[in-house]
Amino acid sequence: MQNNTKDRFFDPTVPDDLAVSIRPKVLSDFIGHESLKQNLSVFIAGAKSRAEAMDHVLLYGPPGLGKTTLAHIVANELGTNFRATAAPMLTKQGDLAAILTSLEPMDVLFIDEIHRLPTAIEEVLYSAMEDFKLDIMLGEGPSAKSVRIDLPPFTLVGATTRTGLLSNPLRDRFGIDLRLSFYSPEDLAKIIMRSAGILGTETGFDGALMLARASRGTPRIANRLLKRARDFAGALDKKEITADTIRTTLAQLHIDDHGLDEIDREYMTTIVRHYAGGPVGIENLAAALSEPADTIEDVIEPYLMQLGFIQRTPRGRIVTDAGYAHLGLEK
Ligand code: ADP
Repeated sequence: MQNNTKDRFFDPTVPDDLAVSIRPKVLSDFIGHESLKQNLSVFIAGAKSRAEAMDHVLLYGPPGLGKTTLAHIVANELGTNFRATAAPMLTKQGDLAAILTSLEPMDVLFIDEIHRLPTAIEEVLYSAMEDFKLDIMLGEGPSAKSVRIDLPPFTLVGATTRTGLLSNPLRDRFGIDLRLSFYSPEDLAKIIMRSAGILGTETGFDGALMLARASRGTPRIANRLLKRARDFAGALDKKEITADTIRTTLAQLHIDDHGLDEIDREYMTTIVRHYAGGPVGIENLAAALSEPADTIEDVIEPYLMQLGFIQRTPRGRIVTDAGYAHLGLEK
């Protein structure tokens, strides 16, 4: 059993070493999600032509699907500065106030994991987002007073893996709501071929498609698999990543043809063996697997649900017939 979730090969929340060079910088390099891109380009063009800050954007989707990348692209296409923070780094109202007051007009402020903002800080955001005003208390006790500071117009881009955890007042203040879903193998193959070019390695479309199918619909994992396949090709003194190299890579990493790794299989076998296939509650599963419930919900379950191998029911998680079949087990 792997206890250290941050070592998980498939954990798309772990940042990549080469992320900066591979990350698309303009909308036309962002692969897939065509209608989302079309809409976004209209909103960007509109804001530019009116010389206004673009409406606030909420990006929703599992980790590694391109939320941070899109936020960068928005700033880049608008021709403004990009400022980034993450909700867990904002512990006091003053932390957010310091960032907001240092913005320049039209800047893009990216807040990752926005569902984790403490309520007191979230409340500061309401008037900042709506009226570009900062309402903040100075001092403490009887001498404390509330002051209102003008902010430059800015665009907040919030990213979340869980819209369900966002409060209604916060959600309502985003004019643009964009949902990123898992990518098709064909789109992931295009991402892999683009990254391969940047990394100075080669793979044909068929090889890229093999890697894509094992990438859980997630660009970050696709790029990570590509880099590992490049390592194996290098070890064999080859520049091109062949089908054989990919097979070796996947076998060495214990990844099956659906892109599932050991922890995914352990997750499903735990439900089957210890809970008769479910339903079982998330807390019991977290304890049995020694994984935080958050990791299970954000990283492991979305893709297993997408494959139809598990279901989340009101009474807990269950392994489906397809899940049993994948494990080669009888129900
Ligand atoms: P998130 O913020 O949703 O966790 P990121 O924006 O950090 O995900 O994306 C992870 C990596 O995947 C990035 O480094 C980027 O290179 C790549 N990526 C994501 N989406 C795309 C895409 N549509 N086209 C090309 N590369 C992408």
